[in-house]
Amino acid sequence: MRGCDCVGVRAHFGIKRERWPHAFIRLLRQLIPMLSTSLLRRTIGTQPLRRFSTGTGAEKGMARPIFNESYTPISAATAALENISKYNKYLNAFVDVADPETVRDQAKEAAHRWEIGQAKSALDGTIMGYKMNLCTKELRTTCASAMLENFQAPYTATAIELLQEAGAITGGKANMDEFGMGSHNVFSNAGPTRNPHGIMGRAIETLDEVEGRSPGGSSGGSAAAVASNMCFAALGSDTGGSVRLPASYCGIVGFKPSYGRISRWGLVAYASSLDTVGTLTKTVDDAKTIYDIISKEDLKDSTCLTQRQRDSIEKAKKPIRDTKQGSKPLSGIRVGIPQEFNVTELSPATKALWRRGIQTLKDEGATVVPVSLPNTKLAVGAYFTLATAEASSNLQRYDGIRYGHQSEERDEKNALYSHTRSEGFGKEVRRRILLGTYVLTSGSFDNFFLRAQKIRQMIRRDFDSIFARPNMITGSLDGEGDASRVHALLTPVAVTAAPKLEDVVGDHIDPINAYMDDILTIPASLAGLPAMSVPFATYGDDGFPVGLQVMSQYGDEEMVFKVARIIEKKGRETL
Ligand code: GLN
Repeated sequence: MRGCDCVGVRAHFGIKRERWPHAFIRLLRQLIPMLSTSLLRRTIGTQPLRRFSTGTGAEKGMARPIFNESYTPISAATAALENISKYNKYLNAFVDVADPETVRDQAKEAAHRWEIGQAKSALDGTIMGYKMNLCTKELRTTCASAMLENFQAPYTATAIELLQEAGAITGGKANMDEFGMGSHNVFSNAGPTRNPHGIMGRAIETLDEVEGRSPGGSSGGSAAAVASNMCFAALGSDTGGSVRLPASYCGIVGFKPSYGRISRWGLVAYASSLDTVGTLTKTVDDAKTIYDIISKEDLKDSTCLTQRQRDSIEKAKKPIRDTKQGSKPLSGIRVGIPQEFNVTELSPATKALWRRGIQTLKDEGATVVPVSLPNTKLAVGAYFTLATAEASSNLQRYDGIRYGHQSEERDEKNALYSHTRSEGFGKEVRRRILLGTYVLTSGSFDNFFLRAQKIRQMIRRDFDSIFARPNMITGSLDGEGDASRVHALLTPVAVTAAPKLEDVVGDHIDPINAYMDDILTIPASLAGLPAMSVPFATYGDDGFPVGLQVMSQYGDEEMVFKVARIIEKKGRETL
């Protein structure tokens, strides 16, 4: 990156030791105007959209994971390919689409396996979408960056390999924010993705008249592809909320398992201590089906849980005793409502839906109690310090020499390296690298980076102090007997429904507003906890979807599925 003298940056801005997190926010505000704002606004505005089927994904039977006589891999593939050819031009969900003939051939083979009773798994013959930062041998892995515009990975990510072994067919590679940095899928070298809600069923010629909404990011392409039935399900990545936020905006289920559950091998790194492969599906059960297939030990990823660790997590879970002997689905389960998630930015409608979600859990037998996570307010500052620091280190490898874009500019003053990186990275990525490099400089390491690490520990401890089940990673103790401790948490995912694209992209937008969009998803990421966004309701005149977030203790994915199914069921009735 050209001109990044970080010691100089600190001196230039006269940054002194001051109280966290004000110093970090001030730093952000000072750095942002330095960066060019001209790269945005590209293709927005010309082809927006409207109304799409979401949530249940009933259109053309795409929601059913198990095929039957009238719904076969062949009919599903035909429907998916038809939707891609109809809507992808408007949505920009897939950047690369698989060869239709290959998809049809693979669907025929899967159909045959079903016919003779030799299906490879429940997913055999389903069409999958994969985020552009997951390596695949057959299509490009661009990370939505000019830096990797022509990158063809020599191998396939472990999670995708497992799905392919289970018979899943690759439908396409999905759009995203460049290297996973963003909340609205607008920082992509392939142009922004649009939210499909409200599109399905509309005449193609009228789509241009529809106002574009954010699909959420950074896995916006994966979410839009699922919500528009271009594929059965998709994989995304979630570093601070990138699977959950798009799921909420697009009205589908977004699941981020505990850190280390799914191998990161083949996932292009953004912030390695936070990156998690996640799923985007139409139902909670679909998420579980995919999760069961891809959540495996992988020796190629040293941060992936071993089978022994997985076994000990299960062994440490005590059965939940229902002292009141209730017979409802959630009898005996205690759900916490973290008071600090009631942030001022929450829209009144979101608050009302959250209350309705709480009532739903009570009606189904859960005991709902308020809980406190006092360090939540420090989470966004800590996240952006750690994520940018890790990103600045991870993205060093794009130097124009080993792989990726190489600048043709040569002059004496500026090296190949700086030209290459200035051309190859978009504005938001350059901003993050600048921030991250700054927080790692010797002068600010203690004040920013170490402090953010400590805050991360405090946030983990906050969660451990309210969960009844122990955390195998931090070694927290079992608190099953303590009635004030809970098994799961319920919060909103986002402060509002999907914003208009024109309100999230352009020179007039303060990027800190987008950073704040992750305020409700970041805490689970910092603590490595499993979290799921479940479509619960729609609001406003346009009826855009809103999700609720279910979180649980590290390793307790089953609890997330259990509570999420109840929210999903109630959501179905009202959506
Ligand atoms: N929006 C957050 C960021 O830009 C989270 C992104 C993600 O989870 N990949 O860092």
